[in-house]
Amino acid sequence: MLYRSTRGKGRIVEASTAIIRGIAEDGGLYVPEEFPKITKSFEELSKMTYQELAFYIIKKYFDDFNDDELKECIDKAYDDKFENPLIAPLNYKADAYFLELYHGKTLAFKDMALSILPHLLKTAAKKIGISKEIVILTATSGDTGKAALEGFDSVDGTKIVVFYPKDGVSEIQKRQMTTQEGENTFVVGIEGNFDDAQNGVKEIFSDKAFNELLDKNNCMLSSANSINIGRLVPQVVYYVYSYVSLLKDKEIEDGEKVNVVVPTGNFGNILAAFYAKEMGVPLGRLICASNENKVLTDFINTGIYDRKREFSVTNSPSMDILISSNLERFLYEISGRDDVLINSLMEQLKEEGKYEIREDMKDKLKILYGDFANEAETLKAVKEVYETSKYVIDTHTAVAYDVYEKYKKETGDNSTFVIASTASPFKFPRSINEVLRFTDDSASDFEMVQVLSNKMDLKIPKGIEGLEEKEIRHKVTCKKDEMREVIKNFLGV
Ligand SMILES: *Cc1c(COP(=O)(O)O)cnc(C)c1O
Repeated sequence: MLYRSTRGKGRIVEASTAIIRGIAEDGGLYVPEEFPKITKSFEELSKMTYQELAFYIIKKYFDDFNDDELKECIDKAYDDKFENPLIAPLNYKADAYFLELYHGKTLAFKDMALSILPHLLKTAAKKIGISKEIVILTATSGDTGKAALEGFDSVDGTKIVVFYPKDGVSEIQKRQMTTQEGENTFVVGIEGNFDDAQNGVKEIFSDKAFNELLDKNNCMLSSANSINIGRLVPQVVYYVYSYVSLLKDKEIEDGEKVNVVVPTGNFGNILAAFYAKEMGVPLGRLICASNENKVLTDFINTGIYDRKREFSVTNSPSMDILISSNLERFLYEISGRDDVLINSLMEQLKEEGKYEIREDMKDKLKILYGDFANEAETLKAVKEVYETSKYVIDTHTAVAYDVYEKYKKETGDNSTFVIASTASPFKFPRSINEVLRFTDDSASDFEMVQVLSNKMDLKIPKGIEGLEEKEIRHKVTCKKDEMREVIKNFLGV
């Protein structure tokens, strides 16, 4: 299996090189030359554990990893760090199947990919003969940073530096990061917003002198962001897993179509569902749910992508995004792999903030259904699911639930639905409390977690248990123009 760039000018490479590089030389994203097909029966797959299925699927994409290498990566990623032994269990509530992707260490679905990426990176580096220390640089608005820190914690041969906006993350998110253990982890609060942190990191990646300095000191920069193919492929697994789990539980017939609903930001999670469909999983409509930053809803309904609009801060912050990077891979496929066109569209996005796709692509876009939930609708969905099922969903999952209801109402489609449940309600207790009113607003996030646990008779997830008492290990803050110095200090170069 080889990988090429969506923009056509990069070298064609093996998986390990694509994982190490993250992004192609021409600025495009790596895509597999063709989609591998599932050749075993679903019946057979339904007897596999999550880890066995992960091996079966990932091996098809990363076939330059030998069996032992890949098995080791999988065993280290999907172990008892996950609080549910099924890793990605389905929960039937309020008339739909919630695919709970939040049982990892940081309580959000980013753990599904970021718990394996460090092992894939390390193995890939070894395979291509890179002996340098890999330094991961990440800017985060909250969830990615912590998931990356946990993933890279104590993985030898790697160091990780995370920059977050000092005053721009939730109380729990901040504490999760500043208490991070591991000698190879570094966390820094930036005096600025997420864009400042993100732009700073981007500048450092393209700073030649800085990269040469690291090179002299036997280090190299790499990234853990969601355009890395090493993050996308592990996400395909849980869509296959949810399908065969439904089959195993006799909830569907073999071959019956299942629709999926995905709360979407960067388009990574829903793209993984598309990859699963291309591999032969009988998925029907892929329902793309957005919050008020509904650039994707508008795109799906008009074929025009227009990022020139007001950015809203919402109660589903991990989806507050106006440029969905992974959409590029989807456009590549529905254009019939027309890299010339993709170049032109991405150029227009950069220069004019806007592009329109071809008519034939608009037809293919119908695989997707797009709609959005506003702030009030999101909270209403939390309430509704709670009242009908005594099941608490977080605000991101609530966006998906609201759009799921709109879709059903509009189409009358009564197939089986799987809703990707991307975060634990324990991660956003303040928003949950706003609707369910378990306690007073003056309570701290930590108190709210305790109350939520008591009222719901749910155990506090290990990832945040006792968080308030944990030692704060990362106190460094810096201004935007001090990021390089801070990194140099950490690395001792
Ligand atoms: C990142 C994130 C999303 C969005 O996923 P994408 O792959 O970026 O579309 C949704 N929900 C939660 C909780 C997230 O952390």
